[in-house]
Amino acid sequence: MQFFTLLVSLIATVAATSTCSDNPAFRRFSFGGIKGLIVSDGPAIFTENPFLVPDAVVRRSRRASFRSVSPLIGQQNVAIIDLPDARVMVDAGSVNIPEFPQFRNAGRLISNMKAAGVEPESINAVLFTHAHGDHVSGVTTVDGKAAFPNAKLYISKVDHEFWTQENVPNLKPEVIPNDMIQALKDIYLRSIKPYGGRVVLVEANGKPLRGVTFIPTPGHSPGHSAVRFQGKGEALFATGDSWITKADQLENPEWEFFIELDAVQAYKSRIKALNGAARRRDLVLSYHESFPGLGHVSVNGAAFSWTPAETEFMGTAVKTEC
Ligand SMILES: [Zn+2]
Repeated sequence: MQFFTLLVSLIATVAATSTCSDNPAFRRFSFGGIKGLIVSDGPAIFTENPFLVPDAVVRRSRRASFRSVSPLIGQQNVAIIDLPDARVMVDAGSVNIPEFPQFRNAGRLISNMKAAGVEPESINAVLFTHAHGDHVSGVTTVDGKAAFPNAKLYISKVDHEFWTQENVPNLKPEVIPNDMIQALKDIYLRSIKPYGGRVVLVEANGKPLRGVTFIPTPGHSPGHSAVRFQGKGEALFATGDSWITKADQLENPEWEFFIELDAVQAYKSRIKALNGAARRRDLVLSYHESFPGLGHVSVNGAAFSWTPAETEFMGTAVKTEC
């Protein structure tokens, strides 16, 4: 009888945690005396291989890393950092971008941050690593309003100026359709629109807030930047899409991601970012890495290794379907 009662209670527990709304994914952490929170915006789901290397090669590497093979699943890890002067967010996930169905199950940032006790009104600044839709569109609500009404948006001057040109050039027409370039421009423009003039353009290596540096890592997008937060004796290096995940461009930095506008430059930036993170022993936030995307990079011959940050609690698996 006791066993039966236990079984019923176990089944009830599983049922109670089986919906996305009951599975908020956030993770608190700290570095150098600064408190942070990683909030999941949900998955990026690729039904087709997005790398310009043979499918079999990608599958082999994903299998070796115990990552999903079909589809290829990545994550969107959004950082919220409590600086002495401001509460800042790095990238903002995906909302309302039907042009990119890979992100149709994303858009969970707001509900997950509220579950962590953080209200959108408390965000003072959103720092974009680049202007692609899966990093910027989450600053709007589904009906096109500012999701973070008290925030300014920060982005590298180079990336903003590239994606807001009247005619954005397609630098890779043999791979990227022209309408995809247009869609990226449209998404960026409609994401920043509700913020009016509250868009701050950051120069290369600019320090727009105390303790924050935009480090140019161009190639994926012309003004792509990593964002480095300096704490006391320890730094957080938020790398955006300098590489995608461990199983692809970290262990195989020569792999080309289809949307990289300048793949040669992207490779150079990736090597520089990875070597720098390894040498400085930074805590790294990798945006599309498995949740929560915090870890350390080390050099491994001509490639690199990823060691997830130590954690006492990892009970927040992210579902791909609701
Ligand atoms: Zn991305």
